[in-house]
Amino acid sequence: MSSGADPFDLASIITAHDDGNFADAVVPPIFQTSLFTFSDYDEMITVYRGEKVRPTYTRGLNPTVRAFEDMLAKLEGGEDALGFASGMAAISSAVLSFVEPGDRIVAVKHVYPDAFRLFGTILKRMKIEVTYVDGRDEEAVARALPGAKLLYLESPTSWVMEAHDVGALAALAKRHGAVSMIDNSWASPFFQRPLTLGVDLVIHSASKYLGGHSDVVAGVVAGSKEMIARVKAEAYPYLGGKLSPFDAWLLIRGLRTLPLRMKAHEASALEIARRLQRLEVVETVCHPGLANRLPAGLNGTSGLFSFIFREGVDIRRFADHLKLFKLGVSWGGHESLIVPGEVVLQQKAQPNSAQTFGIHARSVRLHVGLEGTEALWRDIEEALAAASQS
Ligand SMILES: *Cc1c(COP(=O)(O)O)cnc(C)c1O
Repeated sequence: MSSGADPFDLASIITAHDDGNFADAVVPPIFQTSLFTFSDYDEMITVYRGEKVRPTYTRGLNPTVRAFEDMLAKLEGGEDALGFASGMAAISSAVLSFVEPGDRIVAVKHVYPDAFRLFGTILKRMKIEVTYVDGRDEEAVARALPGAKLLYLESPTSWVMEAHDVGALAALAKRHGAVSMIDNSWASPFFQRPLTLGVDLVIHSASKYLGGHSDVVAGVVAGSKEMIARVKAEAYPYLGGKLSPFDAWLLIRGLRTLPLRMKAHEASALEIARRLQRLEVVETVCHPGLANRLPAGLNGTSGLFSFIFREGVDIRRFADHLKLFKLGVSWGGHESLIVPGEVVLQQKAQPNSAQTFGIHARSVRLHVGLEGTEALWRDIEEALAAASQS
């Protein structure tokens, strides 16, 4: 972090609580209500005229959701944030707030597959074109940018975990007058704060590390007041993918332990990745932490990575023999997970299903949870022993 300021506002996680309205509860209450009534005609008309801001209807403003949004805005170093019902609601609303028919988006390769499908279906029908470039190749990004409205980033990328110099890419977007946004779900604000690197908008699937307990599907977008106002004006209310009060409350609960969880995910995943790299049966490990150094602005690594087996390993037996690593999509919770690439590649017809997202048929993706490094490694060793016998 170049500023020398506290790179991570831990205090805003620890101190977020009700500030006096509700008996100083240490946890903000869940406002499980769709609407808020007015004391009289005058109060109602004052709110309608915009002279006073207070909740009217939960799709617009809900105090529990607002508490989560405030926390997230601070954690990302932004001025404002908006909670959504899913990461995809956050992505679609953010993107649709900045493009119109005839516009072009430049996106990095290997973005989250459903973001890719959004671009290839709804956006394509709206005559919005998407050019994909390798985010590690800054010259290629610079060549693609002239005339583009939006630079869509994800770093590290899905599955293959390619890490980019986010600050450099944001500067390129700025130079070409394009709005930049990034899916920051993998690193979380604990390890990467893209707004401080010059990116305009940060998006999260809060279903992953922000929630952290595999009990919420949610999303969030953070940025400057001006950028968030643009999302808030149309896509947020009219597409209507609003975060619910209960889910916001779960997210606030999850955020309290984000630093502890991220450090534990990092330590276990990095150790397991290093051990895998030393194995004869492993061809390549795709984990940004194995490079000599991380790109500027990425201050640590999380629990999700992939690796490619050499031929001769029975991946089905490996997956079935694991006990702690469960077969399952998503990630970011307490639990360890495995997804075999060969299974994903057989996913039946989706839009643009010819796309392989860089997934190698002999690769597997692991999410390293909080069970403890040695227990997880033993699980892998036992499964490998079973999978290598023929
Ligand atoms: C899961 C995920 C999303 C989508 O989030 P949902 O909450 O499932 O809608 C977006 N980006 C990345 C990188 C993800 O892993």
